[in-house]
Formats: sequence, structure tokens, C-alpha cells
Amino acid sequence: MDTKELYREILNEHNINPSHKEPIDNATLSLNGVNPSCGDNITLHLKLENDVIVDAGFEGDGCAISQASVDMMIDLLIGKTKTEALALAEIFDNMIKGTVTEEQLEQLDEAAALQDISHMPARVKCAMLGWRTMKEMFGLKN
Ligand code: ZN
Repeated sequence: MDTKELYREILNEHNINPSHKEPIDNATLSLNGVNPSCGDNITLHLKLENDVIVDAGFEGDGCAISQASVDMMIDLLIGKTKTEALALAEIFDNMIKGTVTEEQLEQLDEAAALQDISHMPARVKCAMLGWRTMKEMFGLKN
């Protein structure tokens, strides 16, 4: 299986069998994020304890890329501090811009499957939706 095929498989799996597409108990933060250009609409929920993301989930609808991207993001976020989560968002941004290093890419784990999106400008907003919503939750403007 080549890399492109593997990436497609990862995206499919997160889209068809998302691990985190459900509300969570006692969310600390919940925020709606929309991407009008595609019709993607998600609500992200995070539960924080002492600045660590201990649980997260999402609800909503949208294209396969937007939904898989949020699900993969949540896999990465659970167990991370707010600072670490924002650092990952920066790496994801760099991946989309095509300026990411191999070392950084490894930190994105399965989310690296969205690497090719950098060559598809129309889909970039779909891939960024979850990350953008997360940054906004933490008070960062995009
Ligand atoms: Zn979309």
C-alpha cells in the first residue's frame, strides 16, 4: 500500500467510524465552528482539568475531510495541555502551508494523512475547521 492509499484509508476510517463523535460529560468548553464554503458545521467539546485536556468530543455534520480531521485532532488533544494543543495546531498550520519538517509531521500522527490537502485550496478550510475552533476556544484569533 503506498502512502496516498494509506492516507485515504486513515481518512475513511475516521469518517466512517469516528472515535469521538459524541458529546462528553461535564465539558468545560463547547464551541460551534462553521465552514460556510462547504457547509461543515461542528460543535467541539473539551473537558479540562488543571490545564490538561482530559476528554473531548464533537457533534455535527460536514464533508468527510472536516469530520475525519476533527476526529484525528481529538485523538491528539486528549492528554495534552492547552500549550501543547496550541503547539500542535501551529504544526498543523505549517503542514497545510507546506512548511512542516519531518520531525514536526511525526507529532501529528494520523492527522498527517491530511498532508495532501495543502495542494487542494478548496478543502483547506474543511481540514482546518476543528483546529480553528479549538484555537478560538482558547481565545486565539485565527
Ligand atoms: Zn468540508
